[in-house]
Amino acid sequence: MPPPPTFDVRLVRARKLSPQVRELGFERADGTPVEFQAGQWVSLVLPLPEGEGRRAYSIASHPDGSSGFELAVTKVDGGPGSTYLHELPVGAVVRALGPQGFFTRPRMAGHAGPAAYPALFVGTGTGVTPLRSMIKDALLAGETAPIVLLFGVRYESDRLYREELEELSRTYANFRAVYTVSRPDASWSGATGYVQTHVESLWRELAHERASSASEEAPVAPHVYICGLERMVSAVRDLLRKQMGIDRKQVHSERYD
Ligand SMILES: Cc1cc2nc3c(=O)[nH]c(=O)nc-3n(C[C@H](O)[C@H](O)[C@H](O)COP(=O)(O)OP(=O)(O)OC[C@H]3O[C@@H](n4cnc5c(N)ncnc54)[C@H](O)[C@@H]3O)c2cc1C
Repeated sequence: MPPPPTFDVRLVRARKLSPQVRELGFERADGTPVEFQAGQWVSLVLPLPEGEGRRAYSIASHPDGSSGFELAVTKVDGGPGSTYLHELPVGAVVRALGPQGFFTRPRMAGHAGPAAYPALFVGTGTGVTPLRSMIKDALLAGETAPIVLLFGVRYESDRLYREELEELSRTYANFRAVYTVSRPDASWSGATGYVQTHVESLWRELAHERASSASEEAPVAPHVYICGLERMVSAVRDLLRKQMGIDRKQVHSERYD
């Protein structure tokens, strides 16, 4: 396979999404459009203790044909790459390689347009970023199949993109976001515990819903997209594959470590 394209990107804006997560908005320095599929990632070439090195980051924005894209980076204690990106000043230029990766949504056989599979997206922490890209891509393309995001966080303040996700669920009847908080305040009235606790019931609910545009067709089994750290991804994959017997073609995942 040929190496992915290399290009320079300039940090044009940045903000905190949560106490540990910084959003970085980059633009290609040469102004050409960034072509990618929702769910893909880029490598950034960063100065690390061992010399120049690469770190991968999922593209958090959806493909819109522009020369810009967004990332969201968790600050890892003692992590040189994420610390560098948390301190990067607006205006700085970084070398990028990409897009890369196969954590993307397949088109449904016989459907020329967007995928019509119901989808359960399962993410923790910044693992939500490629899911946000895929969800916005699907909704803006007019996909009517039901889409559920199950987003696991430690604290309520870790709910990245909360206002945007709430706005999307008000605008699109086929989308909803479910948060589960593992260390909730006493006032939290939503779901609690790890994402694993809620996957099976949400998958079964989705399996009984149908796309509004396909109301005469038989229900289609949901696809599941999981992204986050290895321990969570493996636990959810095992639950879906071994305990629930879901076909591996319907289970897609991306690991960050
Ligand atoms: C395909 C892919 C996509 C990725 N996308 C993102 C992304 O969108 N946002 C992001 O923040 N990171 C993402 N990562 C992780 C990222 O590449 C780095 O590993 C991370 O920034 C830590 O690098 P570091 O140099 O700071 O620390 P290192 O010293 O390299 O790593 C220390 C440890 O940090 C842990 N770690 C890695 N990523 C995270 C994380 N997100 N949250 C908590 N702990 C973590 C791991 O256990 C790792 O072993 C992705 C990784 C891959 C493989």
